[in-house]
Amino acid sequence: MTGTAGTVTNWARNITYTAKEFHRPRSLDALRTLVAGSPKVRVLGSGHSFNEIADPGAGGVLLSIADLPPVIEVDRARTVRVSGGVRYAELARTVHAHGLALPNMASLPHISVAGSVATGTHGSGVGNGPLAAAVREVELVTADGSTVSIARGDARFDGAVTSLGALGVVTALTLDLEPSYEVEQYVFTELPLAGLDFGAVAGAAYSVSLFTDWREPGFRQVWVKRRTDQAPVDFPWAVPATEAMHPVPGMPAGNCTEQFGVPGPWHERLPHFRAEFTPSSGHELQSEYLLPRSAAVDALAAIDGMRSTVAAVLQTCEVRTVAADPQWLSPAHGRDSVALHFTWVEDTAAVLPVVRRLEAALDPFDPRPHWGKVFTMPATVVGRRYEHLVDFRTLAQALDPTGKFTNAFVRDVLAD
Ligand SMILES: Cc1cc2nc3c(=O)[nH]c(=O)nc-3n(C[C@H](O)[C@H](O)[C@H](O)COP(=O)(O)OP(=O)(O)OC[C@H]3O[C@@H](n4cnc5c(N)ncnc54)[C@H](O)[C@@H]3O)c2cc1C
Repeated sequence: MTGTAGTVTNWARNITYTAKEFHRPRSLDALRTLVAGSPKVRVLGSGHSFNEIADPGAGGVLLSIADLPPVIEVDRARTVRVSGGVRYAELARTVHAHGLALPNMASLPHISVAGSVATGTHGSGVGNGPLAAAVREVELVTADGSTVSIARGDARFDGAVTSLGALGVVTALTLDLEPSYEVEQYVFTELPLAGLDFGAVAGAAYSVSLFTDWREPGFRQVWVKRRTDQAPVDFPWAVPATEAMHPVPGMPAGNCTEQFGVPGPWHERLPHFRAEFTPSSGHELQSEYLLPRSAAVDALAAIDGMRSTVAAVLQTCEVRTVAADPQWLSPAHGRDSVALHFTWVEDTAAVLPVVRRLEAALDPFDPRPHWGKVFTMPATVVGRRYEHLVDFRTLAQALDPTGKFTNAFVRDVLAD
């Protein structure tokens, strides 16, 4: 995220926000005054989304809360209250210093907490929900500048965390923690697609990710993250790697977290990428679809059927699992999911036709796209895949009657 109004871009630089003003308030009072006095507002987190979800549109105000005084308050009751603009890397380090841990992390720690949970960001693990699952309370500045807290148990809560930024500015969140734990990370190579027992492979450890470039039918790498307080890894389906690896072919393995089963703190193993390096390839677009987990093998066969088309514009494809989540707009809402992720080349014109064909191939499996990544299916089609869309719309109208936080992206999703 760089620049002043008119030149602010996302991390991937494929989106330049069209806002007329870009503000970084330094106090909560300044933020509240700014929100109350602006007709159209969107918040930018760390800018790691690949579409227009954060764009307020021409004439709107884009604001970052990164300059608000950061708060990370760890409580003895194993919770942490954290400012929305804090990134997971900093949150995780602080929590770990208190002997506590988050249940899971995404592939990178560079992303802001509020922006991540707003889009349903997730890691992997058959028993691990998305990052939003750890949230127990959100604090918002709403359209008139007032503050509202919505905690677990409130009838509105399941709409309030994965909210696409449509309810207000999330200034702070309270998250559940657990005692700190260690993780060992192993990488295996050459897992065949034929005969894949997806349930067994994905459930072989706390967090498992399969990677392929689809040039061959099968997975080039499998990343297996085992909690040391759980059973040893038994992974008979593939061959242990003999050198440290990066999920994107050709990228330096030194950018990645420690491998070869060296035990280490949870926050230095669960992400694939180290906080101090550029994550992934740094020159890319991304798409991802969450499907019912029971469809995993059939969906992978459908992609295999168009393997050369996908491979032509692909850097890497990652297959993960996400446990069912109650958030109304969570892509994992109500169903244990398989998440099919694609790191594409940095060429929108070449990638979009492939994304369209991929979406057609996955359509029989009722895919829900990641809110923060590239997709081409109409937002209204996406919206129909969420049974609580009407509940969310009602909640958004109650907190934001004039649609101050509704941009074109959100309006299309919420349309009748
Ligand atoms: C290299 C890379 C790797 C990635 N890996 C993963 C992964 O492992 N798993 C995964 O699921 N996703 C992944 N993503 C996607 C990423 O996690 C999401 O796009 C996420 O939303 C990024 O958080 P952000 O703070 O950058 O959000 P932004 O892109 O800045 O914003 C996303 C949304 O949140 C809203 N928002 C942000 N802050 C606030 C706030 N304080 N109050 C209200 N609304 C707010 C914005 O308005 C917008 O609607 C990856 C992205 C990149 C670039």
